[in-house]
Amino acid sequence: MSLTVPELTDMLRARGEAQEQLFSEARRCRAAARGDVAVLRGVVEVTNLCRVNCDYCPMRRDNTTSNSIYVLDVEQIVARAREIHAAGIDVVFLQAGEIPKTTKIVGEAIPRIRELFNDKVEILLNLGNKKRSEYAYLKDQGATSYILKHETSDPELYAKLRHETFESRMRCMEDLLDLGYKVGTGAMSGLPGQSLESVAEDILLAKRLGVHMSSIAPFIPAPGTPMENDGYGDVNVALNAIAAMRIVEPTWLIPSVSALAKTRDDGQLRGFQAGANVMTVNFSDPASAGKYLIYGKDRFVVRREHATRALTGAGMTVTGSVFLRELMGTGA
Ligand code: SF4
Repeated sequence: MSLTVPELTDMLRARGEAQEQLFSEARRCRAAARGDVAVLRGVVEVTNLCRVNCDYCPMRRDNTTSNSIYVLDVEQIVARAREIHAAGIDVVFLQAGEIPKTTKIVGEAIPRIRELFNDKVEILLNLGNKKRSEYAYLKDQGATSYILKHETSDPELYAKLRHETFESRMRCMEDLLDLGYKVGTGAMSGLPGQSLESVAEDILLAKRLGVHMSSIAPFIPAPGTPMENDGYGDVNVALNAIAAMRIVEPTWLIPSVSALAKTRDDGQLRGFQAGANVMTVNFSDPASAGKYLIYGKDRFVVRREHATRALTGAGMTVTGSVFLRELMGTGA
C-alpha cells in the first residue's frame, strides 16, 4: 500500500486501542501475503572487529583495544553451521563487524556450508560495506541474501552517527540489488535528534529501494559508547513501525529483533503481534556471543526455546527459507 509521511507518522503515534487496530491490520496483511508463519534464521557472529566507528555501537573502532577481539576461521564457522543444520534451520546467517578480511573467510566457508546442507540452504550475510567485486565474489561462492541496514534515511544524522557517508551505503545497496541478492535494509528508531517523520521516511526509503526484507530496532544506549547517556528509544514506536512496514509491503520479511526485548520481556512477542515474521536464533558459541557486543555486555542472546515461546504465544508456526523455495521454483 502507498502511504504518505503524515499517514505513517500517525501510525507511529498510535497507542491503546488505535495501536491494537494497527497491529490487527498488519496481521491481516501478513496472513494474506505469506500466512501466519515465521522464518527462523541461525546466526553465527564471525568477528567483533570493526573498522567503522558508529557512535552507538560497543564494537566501534575506538573500542578495539578495550574489547576482547576474536575472528572465527573457516572451520569454526562450518562447525557452527553444522549446529544450525542439526536444529533443522535452513537459513545460515553470517554476521560480522566490517573488516575486509571477512570476504575471504566467509567466501571460503560458504561452499562448505552449502555442501553440508546439500545446497538446500539460504546463505544470508551481514558484513557491511564492501566493493562490488567482493559482493559478486560472495554471490558466486553461493550467498543468497544480504542485510545492509540504512540505519537512518537522514544523510546528516547518518554521517553524524556513523562517520561515513549515506551515499556510500546507498552505493553498496544498489550493487547488492543489481547483483541479484535478496536484500534487507533496516533502521533504528528513537535516535537522539530523530523525528517521527524521519522514521516514516525510513519506511518509504526501504519501499523505494525495492528491497525484500526490512527491519526496525529501537535505539539502545550501550555502555562504553559516546551515546551511553542518551535515552532508550520508545519500543512502541518500533512496534508501530513494524506494523506500518507490514502494511506498506505485506511480503517483506520483517524480524522481531532482540532489541525489542531489551526494555520489555514480551517485546519480541509484541513484534510478532505487530506483524513481524522472522526471528534470529543465536548459534555463536557462548564465548563468542559474550564478546559480540551489539547492545553491550548484557545483550540478550536469543536461543531456540525463547524463539519457540514467542512464536507460539503469537499463534504462529515456523517455516523454512522463503527465498530458497522461490529460487527452487516451489513457491513462497
Ligand atoms: S554498528 Fe556495525 S559498522 Fe558500526 S561499529 Fe558496530 S559493528 Fe561496526
